[in-house]
Amino acid sequence: MSVKINVSEIFASNVFDDATMKQRLPKKIYAEFKNTLLEGKDLEPHVAEIIAHEMKEWAIEKGATHYTHWFQPLTNITAEKHDAFINPQKDGSILLSFSGKELIKGEPDGSSFPSGGIRATCEARGYTAWDCTSPAFIHEAPDSTPVLYIPTIFCSYTGEALDKKTPLLRSMEALSTQAMRIIKLFGDTTATKVVTSVGPEQEYFLVDKDTYDKRKDLIFTGRTLFGAPAPKGQELDDHYFGTIKERVLAYMTELNEELWKLGITAKTQHNEVAPAQHELAPIYDTTNIATDHNQLVMEIMKKVALRHNLVCLLHEKPFAGINGSGKHNNWSMSTDTGKNLLEPGDTPHSNKQFLLVLASILKAVDDYAPLLRMSAATPGNDHRLGANEAPPAIISVFLGDQLEDVLSQLCEKGEATRSLEGSQLETGVSTVPRFSKDATDRNRTSPFAFTGNKFEFRMVGSSASIADPNIVLNTIVAETLGQAADILEKADDFELALHDLIKDWVTDHIRVIFNGDGYSDAWVEEAARRGLPNIKNTVDATSVLADPEVIKLFDKHGVFSAVELAAREEVGYENYSKAINIEARTMIDMVKKEIIPAVMEYTTTVAKSVAAVKAVGADASVQEKVLKEITTELSKLDAAVVKLEAATDASVKIEDPKAQAIAYRDDVFAQFAEVREPADKLETLVDEKAWPFPTYAELLFNV
Ligand code: ADP
Ligand code: MG
Repeated sequence: MSVKINVSEIFASNVFDDATMKQRLPKKIYAEFKNTLLEGKDLEPHVAEIIAHEMKEWAIEKGATHYTHWFQPLTNITAEKHDAFINPQKDGSILLSFSGKELIKGEPDGSSFPSGGIRATCEARGYTAWDCTSPAFIHEAPDSTPVLYIPTIFCSYTGEALDKKTPLLRSMEALSTQAMRIIKLFGDTTATKVVTSVGPEQEYFLVDKDTYDKRKDLIFTGRTLFGAPAPKGQELDDHYFGTIKERVLAYMTELNEELWKLGITAKTQHNEVAPAQHELAPIYDTTNIATDHNQLVMEIMKKVALRHNLVCLLHEKPFAGINGSGKHNNWSMSTDTGKNLLEPGDTPHSNKQFLLVLASILKAVDDYAPLLRMSAATPGNDHRLGANEAPPAIISVFLGDQLEDVLSQLCEKGEATRSLEGSQLETGVSTVPRFSKDATDRNRTSPFAFTGNKFEFRMVGSSASIADPNIVLNTIVAETLGQAADILEKADDFELALHDLIKDWVTDHIRVIFNGDGYSDAWVEEAARRGLPNIKNTVDATSVLADPEVIKLFDKHGVFSAVELAAREEVGYENYSKAINIEARTMIDMVKKEIIPAVMEYTTTVAKSVAAVKAVGADASVQEKVLKEITTELSKLDAAVVKLEAATDASVKIEDPKAQAIAYRDDVFAQFAEVREPADKLETLVDEKAWPFPTYAELLFNV
């Protein structure tokens, strides 16, 4: 039986969105609220009071009993604490209430969230404050009453941001301020702000829950720490865009329904390159809302999977030897009147504003490449960046033939006079309708690719919050747009100054443009020749936050204070150390409690068989050979795990966060391969019935 969903009826039905507010709020209150949004003015208490009341009434009609301030601490996941609407009355009855104050301000005891030393545990006061730019919504779950979710920011008693949302909102404002200066110079008098938009394409794996439950590594770390390759991997290219299996489609159907109810525009779904890998892409939205929505997408993906006895893996590299998962961050900026600043038009060579914006982005990406790299750095993503399936750890920009041609005209002749045009697509089939091609092909290997009217930052990891990369993108582009405005606002001859600025910046930063194969070794060498940084791991990437230039940049645009940045650096090291520590402990546990005992038992069987075969005077050489191979690998494994345990015990004692992270990287993580190698070899040597947990073949091909 197929499923019927009335999409237009359910879409955003659980969102206290603009339409709902307009319908439910008194006209004057609605107008005042809209003004607050438009002009960034403080919300008047009486307005908050009425909105809170209506929000509660709406939520109760939908069956809600609780509300929660929903926030995004420095963990890549969200946090919530539910409070019931109940308010006991003197006569013993219960009133359901929700005040303006409760809407605007919350005070979670936030002492156990990562704060990078901003707060000692004794200073527990943290505040959540309503982010009225992102609508409240109702979250439903089977067998429970719905809860009203209020998107909030989270900061300390002294006002430091303890979350990802606060700096994201600050960075959007910073970008708007600087971009407005630019569009005013080009005569735009109607726009009042510039907003950035993001469409994050989310990759994920689905594995069977029963199989998953037998693997401690998946349970504790989200990825497999052991596993010999399955006989088949992704080499046939038969999974990418392949027919979607019915069990997976049933999952996607329920997922879409949940997301649509929350007003999330889940649009595209398909199988990805690796077996058991899939992708979901929504339609782009304002960065702030896209960020909230992506958190919800990740959370709901996991929850819905469980209902189908599946587990959704969001780790960047759940399996060795096949593709990992990323999240392509499609980014653009446009005016509140709907003009996309990244729209080149048909003749980009004559679109001076576009060329200036493009030159500013090139400069931003080149000047702050290490920072952009940092924004995608997580221990999980270290397995992807620089490996064969993801863009390398080197930041470069792909522009495509048309723009590259315009820029080279500018550099070589000082003037761009023509733009390459897209031709008609010739298919050789007369019944296929003709259409004109884009002027530019795409490049799937570039970490930062121009795709028509947006940039696609492809380094971001699948489990990460998209807040980090967008905070960085917004801030670095705000900086270079600001620098351009500084020069152009003072210029006596605007046209001349503009021409020189574009030409100079393009010439200075042409080194960051690369249209070739980003996955090739030749590019690594070429990038080194060009002096482009190649930051290979999270620990090195995190240290970029201590760079005085970076501190100055964020401070100048009011995105992070020096204290907030230092806190994020510390949290970066801590998160890395904790992740590697958990992986090491899980490895040790699996080797000692599962692999070694299983192999020992199997060797006993083989040894008995050798003795029995010999006793009857037959040839036991095969049994002896197998036994020897197994015992050789077993002793290698034992030696490696002893070393790993010692290194882990030593690293855990180091107090300085950076020194500790370095130790976890160089002494602990570096040992993983030595443990894994003999273990995976053993998997291929012992009887499959004797192996203590499911293999890659079972994990990847049984959904
Ligand atoms: P692909 O890169 O896989 O071919 P699409 O071109 O369809 O995919 O777009 C991927 C994502 O980019 C989608 O989420 C889409 O909504 C988003 N997107 C499209 N236009 C813009 C834009 N101007 N700004 C930001 N994101 C956009
Ligand atoms: Mg894409």
